[in-house]
Amino acid sequence: MPCVAVVADDAGSTVVDAGQSPAHAHLVQLAMAEAGLPAACRLVYTHHHWDHTWGACAWEVEEIVGHEAGATLLSAEADRPWSHAYLQQEMAANPRLGPSFKARARSMNGWEDFAVRPPTRTFTDRLVLPGGIEVRHVGGNHAPDSTVVAVPDSGVLLLGDCFYPPPYHLREPGPAGEEIDLPQLTALVAEGFDWYVDSHSPPWRPPSS
Ligand SMILES: [Zn+2]
Repeated sequence: MPCVAVVADDAGSTVVDAGQSPAHAHLVQLAMAEAGLPAACRLVYTHHHWDHTWGACAWEVEEIVGHEAGATLLSAEADRPWSHAYLQQEMAANPRLGPSFKARARSMNGWEDFAVRPPTRTFTDRLVLPGGIEVRHVGGNHAPDSTVVAVPDSGVLLLGDCFYPPPYHLREPGPAGEEIDLPQLTALVAEGFDWYVDSHSPPWRPPSS
C-alpha cells in the first residue's frame, strides 16, 4: 500500500494522499485515533493515480487540494462505471492495464459507497496551506500533476511518486521506459531536506546528509 502522511495540527490535520481504497483510509484513521492525532480536515493529493486517491470517499474533510491537471483527469475517472466486471472488461480490451487493474480489484472489497473524488481546491504552481504546509507542482514523467509537499520545520519533503517511471500501461516497452526520472530526483535532493518520503518505500535520507 502507498504511504499516507499525516501533518497533525490542533486546527485539523492535513492528510497527504487518501489511501488506495476506503479500507486503507479506515486503517489510517484508526492509527490516527490510536495516536491521539486531531481528525483530518483536509486531503492533499500528490497526484491523481488510483492508489493515492481512491480512499478519498472515506474521509470527511473540508477540502481536497490537488493540481489542476489532476482535477481534469480525476473528473474523467469519476465518470467511469467502476466495478470488478468493468475492471475485467478493460483488462480484456487492453492487457497492459493488468498490473494496475488487478491491484485495484484486490484492494476493493465492494463498490457501493465508492466514488472517485476530484480535488475541490486546485492550484497551478504552488500553494501554502494553513500551518505553512507548502504544496508545489513538479510534474514529470510519472504523472503530469505530480506534486511535492514540504512540512514546515520538519526537514521532510513528501514526494509522492514524482520521480518514478510512468505507470506500466503508459510506459514505452523496454528498459528506457522503466528508468526513474533522475533529473527530477536530483533537483529535489539538491534542495537539502533531511528526509525524503516517496510513496512506495521507507523514508530515506540523502547519502550526503
Ligand atoms: Zn503514481
